[in-house]
Amino acid sequence: MRRDIFTDDHEAFRETVREFIAKEITPHVEEWEAAGIVPSELYRKTARIGINGLQVPEEYGGGGMDTFRFNTVVLEENGYAAATLGGLQVHLSTVLPYFLEFANEEQKARWFPGFADGSLVSSVAMTEPGTGSDLAGMATTAVRDGDSYVLNGAKTFITGGIGADLVIVVARTGDGGFDRRRGLSLLVVESGMPGFSRGRNLDKMGLKAQDTAELFFDDVRVPAANLLGAEGDAFSMLTANLPQERLTIAITAQATATAALRMAIDYVKERKAFGKRVADFQNTKFVLAECATELEAGQALVDRAVTELDAGTLTPADAAKVKLFCTEMQARVIDKCLQMHGGYGFMREYPIARLYTDARVTRIFGGTSEVMKSVVSKSLELA
Ligand SMILES: Cc1cc2nc3c(=O)[nH]c(=O)nc-3n(C[C@H](O)[C@H](O)[C@H](O)COP(=O)(O)OP(=O)(O)OC[C@H]3O[C@@H](n4cnc5c(N)ncnc54)[C@H](O)[C@@H]3O)c2cc1C
Repeated sequence: MRRDIFTDDHEAFRETVREFIAKEITPHVEEWEAAGIVPSELYRKTARIGINGLQVPEEYGGGGMDTFRFNTVVLEENGYAAATLGGLQVHLSTVLPYFLEFANEEQKARWFPGFADGSLVSSVAMTEPGTGSDLAGMATTAVRDGDSYVLNGAKTFITGGIGADLVIVVARTGDGGFDRRRGLSLLVVESGMPGFSRGRNLDKMGLKAQDTAELFFDDVRVPAANLLGAEGDAFSMLTANLPQERLTIAITAQATATAALRMAIDYVKERKAFGKRVADFQNTKFVLAECATELEAGQALVDRAVTELDAGTLTPADAAKVKLFCTEMQARVIDKCLQMHGGYGFMREYPIARLYTDARVTRIFGGTSEVMKSVVSKSLELA
């Protein structure tokens, strides 16, 4: 069905992004997957076509956009091409919003020019070896000592963690008393700070060109000037940003499932079995029709949510519904489209195999499907 959330400007930008991905990313995906990371030079290149600075204020060299629609275009084109942006995707859609919302003027002047020109990328480190869904249970601590915090702890599964120049670390700075959610703060740790080290680039089943790291903090002295927002308020800051993070995952899920359907359609029109095209079996037609119908529903949800996000009205419960639906739908659609490829679908030289393994994590990161259900159920006033 016709989509109505984009203008000619968005479509022109889409064309630029599509050409960029075809020329600068697609030919290198295999090489970067083998390396487990994309080269940082990629981020300079994406910056040159304006991707990195989209939402960075103009005075710092960015585009100053107050809409998520251009980011949506980038996410979609990346998904349609089964390409990769490495850690940049999470930097732009999940981490940058914290800086945009909570950085003070001095911090903006320090970091925003680097965000815009691609020389700085960031990660966010919430998850720990012992706790993920239960964020308030984290054990990393930061104790104020003069004009710095002394940070101790370990984080894991951090997207972009190997290559990140800045890492927003969520740490406990105070006792929340009766409320475990109070007393958490956001500290910006910089590459090279003594006591900050990176562990393995984790060996994942998918998203292989996107580095994912363990991070260790051993008496790291983080200047108080690197505190983002108010001390003790991290939980509410994180919660405020979750709708965008979850919508980002839903947009990617939708785009990659759309790509899978296109791949399946192309494949079944060529492949022959029992003397006819696989496309001619009624089962093929029905299965692909189901996929197309599910995709239409997902797209309507995504477009509505992008509109709500731009208007500032996307609620945590609605974002959770969109993530839940689109990522579960992505799994169903990609699985069916892979099935249409027969044995070739299991071969990594066919991009459908990569889409399948990459898709598995969208029901886990950014909050699991179970956590999404629990967020949605809280809005149902069951108590
Ligand atoms: C590739 C990848 C990239 C990631 N990137 C980042 C990143 O950049 N930064 C970051 O901070 N984290 C990141 N994560 C971590 C991710 O957000 C967590 O893995 C996720 O939130 C789940 O936490 P967990 O792994 O500790 O699972 P657990 O919380 O241990 O959950 C285990 C199981 O228990 C279920 N469960 C937990 N609580 C409940 C409940 N209340 N009700 C019902 N079921 C429940 C879960 O749904 C799950 O099925 C990443 C993870 C992966 C795999």
